[in-house]
Amino acid sequence: MLKKEFKRKDVNRARNLIMGKTGASTGTQIGYNTKQTDHKEGDVWTEGRKTWTIKNGIKQTMSKLDTLKKEVFMPLSCPCCNKIMKKRLDKPNYKIHKKCHDCVVEFEHKLKIRGEYDDYIKKLKLKNSFAVVDEMESYLLDVINNTSNSGFVSEDGVVESWKGGANKTKLENKVKEEFDLERKKLQKEDKWLKGN
Ligand SMILES: [Zn+2]
Repeated sequence: MLKKEFKRKDVNRARNLIMGKTGASTGTQIGYNTKQTDHKEGDVWTEGRKTWTIKNGIKQTMSKLDTLKKEVFMPLSCPCCNKIMKKRLDKPNYKIHKKCHDCVVEFEHKLKIRGEYDDYIKKLKLKNSFAVVDEMESYLLDVINNTSNSGFVSEDGVVESWKGGANKTKLENKVKEEFDLERKKLQKEDKWLKGN
C-alpha cells in the first residue's frame, strides 16, 4: 500500500538538514530557550489571533491542520462503480486512485493479464515520490513562515529559537534548493522509465 504521508523522521531529517546547513555558513546558531517549555506534542493553545498546536514536533497553526484534513475528503460512493465505500481499504485506495478497493483490484488484475502491471507499479511509486517531495516542501515552507519568530518546538517540547533572528528568505531558498535536487533525481528516474 502506498502512503502519501510524511513520517516523523522524514520531517525531522529535512528540518535538521536545513537548520544545520544554514547555521554552518553564517555562524547563526540554534539555541534552546528553556523559558518556553510549556507546550508539548498534541497541545492546543491560542497565541496572538491564531490557534496553535504541536504536530510531529513542529509548532503550527490549526488552520493548516484543517486544510490537511479537507484534502482527504472522500465521497460516500465510489465514482467508478457507485457502490458505497465503507470498507477499511476503501479510504487509502480512494486517496491514491479515486476509486474503491474493489475497483482498484479489478483494474490491477486487468493490467497483470496484459503484462503491464510492473510498469504501472513503478510509475505509481514515482508519482507518489513526486507528491511527497512537493508536499514536504510546501509543508516546510509553511513551517518557516509560521514559526520563524517564535522558533521550532522539538519533540520533547523544548523551543528551539534562532539566535540573532531568523533569516526567512535564506531558509526558504535552502528548502527550495534541496527539494529541486530531489525532483531532478526523480525526473531522471521518470525518463529512464519512459525509455524502457
Ligand atoms: Zn468502485
